[in-house]
Amino acid sequence: MSKSEKEIVGLVDLHAHLAVHLPFWFMLFGGDPEKASSPKLTYSHAHHQHMNVDLLKKSGVKIYVQAALVNSFGCSKAKAEKQVLEQLEYVENVAKRHANDFAVAHTPEEARSIIAQGKMALIHALEGAEFLIDSVDDARFWRKRGVAMIAPIHLTDNEYGDASIMSGIKAVVNWKGWLKRAFWPSSRHGLTVLGKVAINNLLKAGIIIDTAHMSEQSLDQTLGLTATAKMPTIMSHGFVRQIRQEERGLTDRQIKSIYDLGGMLAITAGLPMLHPHGPLTPPVSSDHCQGSVDDYLLHVQHLEKLLGVNTQPMALGTDFNGFVAHLRPKCGAALTDFDRQGLAGPHLIPSMMDYLKNKNVGVESYNRSAERFLQIWEQAVVHADA
Ligand SMILES: [Zn+2]
Ligand SMILES: [Zn+2]
Repeated sequence: MSKSEKEIVGLVDLHAHLAVHLPFWFMLFGGDPEKASSPKLTYSHAHHQHMNVDLLKKSGVKIYVQAALVNSFGCSKAKAEKQVLEQLEYVENVAKRHANDFAVAHTPEEARSIIAQGKMALIHALEGAEFLIDSVDDARFWRKRGVAMIAPIHLTDNEYGDASIMSGIKAVVNWKGWLKRAFWPSSRHGLTVLGKVAINNLLKAGIIIDTAHMSEQSLDQTLGLTATAKMPTIMSHGFVRQIRQEERGLTDRQIKSIYDLGGMLAITAGLPMLHPHGPLTPPVSSDHCQGSVDDYLLHVQHLEKLLGVNTQPMALGTDFNGFVAHLRPKCGAALTDFDRQGLAGPHLIPSMMDYLKNKNVGVESYNRSAERFLQIWEQAVVHADA
């Protein structure tokens, strides 16, 4: 069979949280995703379950990356491990109970075989890894458990390095970074010594590095380390600095280096992360509908300007169940479910893709994303095992 015959055509959603109701039960009403979805579901669902299995089955996504999250308040290594293991097991059990539709892929080969059977491949990831990748053995433990991708840093500066600081009042989310920036800016250096070790531990273990949430310096240093190892990285849910002037926004230089290394990125679909900041050239049009897919399109169109249309694979990084609202409905006349409801859940992804196609977005880029994800995973594994 030739290479092109084996290539998967379809979408990966690089970032969602199927099991987050376990550590964060107090932040997600309607917990259990195996219950029927709420008929009142809207895009403004930050604290309501919207990864219901009935919705997930309609998403049309080939690969769904499910990130475990640690509630790190008062946490220790043992507690963090326990929380992650519980979430991984939960995802495995959901897949077993709905075996006609899903299976968990612990290796790239398993993912290819699951997709060939017409099922969705669920893949384990971690968002934030404090305590969990201090040694190569730690990292190898997660690889053995089937974790494909890890973001070492999440919302606050941690033992591995600096996280990005949001603008305005949301800066308090990274209160550690905010205090350091205000009173001791020279103490923020990007990755810590342990952080650089952790990145190398992931490379040695064959786990994809997810650079989401890193500060500009942490990201630059990570890209430097992975360039030395000639290994691609993934940015699972981000946005573009040219459109939204915040530290978490990717600069053009960073976007290019992610793709130069064979990596991939996803523009998040979380509503609070997308609306433009600062003077844009050209300015947004008079009929721009803030908070809707129009915000998302500004970022995607910037990528297309930078990289070319349908030139590079582009993924989804929805952050469903990530405690954020998603794209709101379009202002004015609505033609499709996606226009009418916004991105109220994974079941509306096919309608969103139709919308993007009608807007002349290069959807072929999206359809190449599942394949690129598997190639990146395969490369990580081969590099580690060589
Ligand atoms: Zn996130
Ligand atoms: Zn998330």
